[in-house]
Amino acid sequence: MSDNKRVGQVKEVTSLSNPIVKDVKALALKKFRDQQNAFMAEGLKLVIDALDLGWTIKTLIFAKTQLGNQTVESVAARAKAAGALVLEVSEKVLGAITRRDNPQMVVGVFEQKWLPLKDVRPAQGEVWIALDRVRDPGNLGTIIRTADAVGAKGVILVGETTDPFSLETVRATMGSVFAIPVVKASPEAFMSWRRGLKAKIVGTHLKGSVDYRTVDYSKDATILLMGNEQQGLPDDLAAACDTLIRIPQAGRADSLNLAVATGVALYEIRRHALPDVGR
Ligand code: SAM
Repeated sequence: MSDNKRVGQVKEVTSLSNPIVKDVKALALKKFRDQQNAFMAEGLKLVIDALDLGWTIKTLIFAKTQLGNQTVESVAARAKAAGALVLEVSEKVLGAITRRDNPQMVVGVFEQKWLPLKDVRPAQGEVWIALDRVRDPGNLGTIIRTADAVGAKGVILVGETTDPFSLETVRATMGSVFAIPVVKASPEAFMSWRRGLKAKIVGTHLKGSVDYRTVDYSKDATILLMGNEQQGLPDDLAAACDTLIRIPQAGRADSLNLAVATGVALYEIRRHALPDVGR
């Protein structure tokens, strides 16, 4: 059957040992997310956002208690028309799938989407964020959400990083994972891509000699490069930067949290492009 004629099925499931439920539960682990090229998003708002933005839904799961809720039923119909399997389940099953005592009433399983590095061609005034070995899912999710808020174009994950499609990261993005393209690159691929690039690599570093407020970010495309939570930027990545900026600090803290530093830098970089509040 051709893709545009695919129509899914609806099934009622109450048993935790149902093989489909087992497959969805397994998505809590990266190994199985990679095997199935899939991930979970919890909550009606996220599922609707994802469908609106054209993400491919594989399975829609909702609590049977929601039968009669028009919004949920229309999302279920949309998912079915898009070829998804629709499961009506008990709250016990939903709790087990999402590992929560008070689970969301709707969960969507979507296909993962990665943008190839070669397709990243930043234009003047745009910003992309590159994250060196980001470890913490909460930091990554917060950065993706902030990238969305400031109008950044995407996030490049450099080296071994936490998974943007884990439950914790997706939760922390509050849905922005569906709006912000993610790219993965080894440090070597990032360095060689950087050589052909018409963009400024702006690294953030505790030893940076340039105050982050003194750079004109509107003239070029900017790649904002952030260091790992524990170790900061390694020397080779720091050396590949056109500028190393620093956010001044008072007080006793050694450094800012990675997501906070990213947010502070992003708002300065996007100052020229963001409208005044009230306009
Ligand atoms: N111990 C690490 C170090 O020596 O770099 C601290 C890393 S910090 C928690 C994580 C990342 O946030 C840094 O690599 C840098 O990218 C950014 N960062 C945090 N505070 C910063 C500041 N005051 N100025 C510039 N970047 C900062």
